[in-house]
Amino acid sequence: MFESSAMNDSRNPVAIGSRWLADFAVAVATSDAARLSALLEPGGHWRDVVSLTWANRRRSGDDVPGALLDAARTVGLRDLRLSERFPAPRFAKRSARDVLEVFFDFTVDAGEGTGIARLVPGADDNWVAWIVFTSLQRLRRDAMPPDPGDPEEVYRDPRDTWSRRREEEQRHDGEPEVLIVGAGQAGLTLGAYLRRLGVDALLVEKNARVGDNWRQRYDSLVLHTPKQVVPLPFLPYPETFPMWIPKDQYADWLEHYASALELNVWTAAEVTGAEYDDAEGRWTVRIARSDGSETVRRPPHLVLATGGGYGSIPYIPDLPGLDEFGGEVLHSKHYVNGRAYAGKRAMVVGVSTSGHDIAYDLCEWGAETTMLQRGTTVLVSPHMANQAYGAYLTGEQSVEELDLIGASGFIEPVTVSALRALTRQAVEYDRELIESVTRRGLRLDQGPDDTGWMLKSIKLSGGYYINAGASFAIAEGRIAILDAAELVRFDERGAVLRDGTRRPLDLIVLATGFLEPQEDVRAILGDEVAEKMGNVFRFDEEGEHTDMWRPTAQRGLWIMGGGIPTARNYGRYLALHLAAALRGLHPLYQSAGDVAEAPAETR
Ligand SMILES: Cc1cc2nc3c(=O)[nH]c(=O)nc-3n(C[C@H](O)[C@H](O)[C@H](O)COP(=O)(O)OP(=O)(O)OC[C@H]3O[C@@H](n4cnc5c(N)ncnc54)[C@H](O)[C@@H]3O)c2cc1C
Repeated sequence: MFESSAMNDSRNPVAIGSRWLADFAVAVATSDAARLSALLEPGGHWRDVVSLTWANRRRSGDDVPGALLDAARTVGLRDLRLSERFPAPRFAKRSARDVLEVFFDFTVDAGEGTGIARLVPGADDNWVAWIVFTSLQRLRRDAMPPDPGDPEEVYRDPRDTWSRRREEEQRHDGEPEVLIVGAGQAGLTLGAYLRRLGVDALLVEKNARVGDNWRQRYDSLVLHTPKQVVPLPFLPYPETFPMWIPKDQYADWLEHYASALELNVWTAAEVTGAEYDDAEGRWTVRIARSDGSETVRRPPHLVLATGGGYGSIPYIPDLPGLDEFGGEVLHSKHYVNGRAYAGKRAMVVGVSTSGHDIAYDLCEWGAETTMLQRGTTVLVSPHMANQAYGAYLTGEQSVEELDLIGASGFIEPVTVSALRALTRQAVEYDRELIESVTRRGLRLDQGPDDTGWMLKSIKLSGGYYINAGASFAIAEGRIAILDAAELVRFDERGAVLRDGTRRPLDLIVLATGFLEPQEDVRAILGDEVAEKMGNVFRFDEEGEHTDMWRPTAQRGLWIMGGGIPTARNYGRYLALHLAAALRGLHPLYQSAGDVAEAPAETR
């Protein structure tokens, strides 16, 4: 653990944390860059989510003091104090390093924030921050709705019943403050945060029922993320839920969630297009109902929660001869189960999660199954994959606390070195599993910069498989692996291979992923907005996601998405952006139409 004399001067983490925070507060109050520098580890990092920068920003090394103090002056950073809601300063291991972790609260002009400092022993017997993280958590009191716990609420007009109010809210005859396209987990998550902030949001979902997006996925699908990691905000799962929630159970949960959290969702209603009026600062959104009618709504803010991050429009690769194939061709999005293929011959194109799941399903239903491998993939056992979730699995800390800790460490160089260490352990632990499939010809990789599956998941939304059984079937030779280099072309009856043989096929499943999320924007808002937005949900030079949960290049347009834990963690910040914009607290939205677009540094 800690060997430095700084550590020996006191083992009292609260005393050390309080002292560092008091010095930090003085450096901020006096705008003293030299003083602040002395409190930071050389090469250390500052990450801010909304509170000081109204964006997601990361600065490192010498850039930190100046940038932090500039931002602090602009937003009125003050009243730094040890956090009341989160644990007192303590020693902990974070991102593979021993640190003293200090949660602190602070005030800015727009509201209240929470930060985390990860302290390490410095060169001069002092404690310095390796990482300072700052985030906005609440808007100031006059911009927040009354607490639901207000005892005065008992004095109500008896005619004003909950059912009547809900019916009216749900019908939503007026103009919403925010219109959210899509009521999947991301749209619902944002809707719940917005409701808590008193924002009038309307969710528009093209499916007949909330949860149908999961019901329509393949029958055998269970969440690949353990239940402790994927709760939605404000409502934990019942203890009786299984560790890996089956997709239909999850679909029903989403429907229940929408009702329990009193979200206003129009189902069987598709957003077919929208235009933004710069002068008025409002969208004109066209909504087609399944009964053939069309409705228009004019909200100031439009959020796309249509599956962005993963994309929702199937990617169909250009495989030679595929259009000549006489059998059935399906994208994984439309695969249901292998019941009809018992005794038939199937090829699954793609070796990521869906490819493995679907090949395993076909194999277990009795189809002769081959996986066609084009790119490499990461393979990891569930045991080792779960190591990345750490404390979420023990349930000893709140999800809110863990989300903050996660956000404080989401700094690319920090994440990379922590995940590398984890990947080394995983490769060792999973050696037999890995050898058993590579022996059968499956080509694996260890993720970008040897970071394993998680960064691939975050950065590329795929390219890995957490073994849910398919790897055993591959090792036993029950699922065959065919390298794409061996394939010459498809013809009417199947695959023609380089060695001159043929592989007859009845079914080809394309588990080949989805088009870039930018195409979701194009499909709904057209070329001009899509081009203006550029790449959605990729990484900028500071290692932050582009466009997601933060101001975009298109005024009034926001993108919500990500995997379930990420959407929960960052959806709260998008909700704060929106509420601040509506209540006149957001620097980019002081009044309608006064800023044409977000400056690049906030995007
Ligand atoms: C097979 C599979 C398994 C996955 N498993 C996990 C997992 O275990 N853990 C995890 O964290 N993530 C998982 N993911 C990734 C991700 O969490 C899911 O894709 C998730 O469904 C994304 O949620 P979302 O709300 O962003 O998008 P979606 O679930 O795709 O929801 C978008 C909604 O928008 C609606 N919509 C789209 N266009 C319009 C329109 N024009 N008008 C109205 N409505 C519209 C759609 O009908 C849909 O209901 C998985 C993804 C896939 C494909």
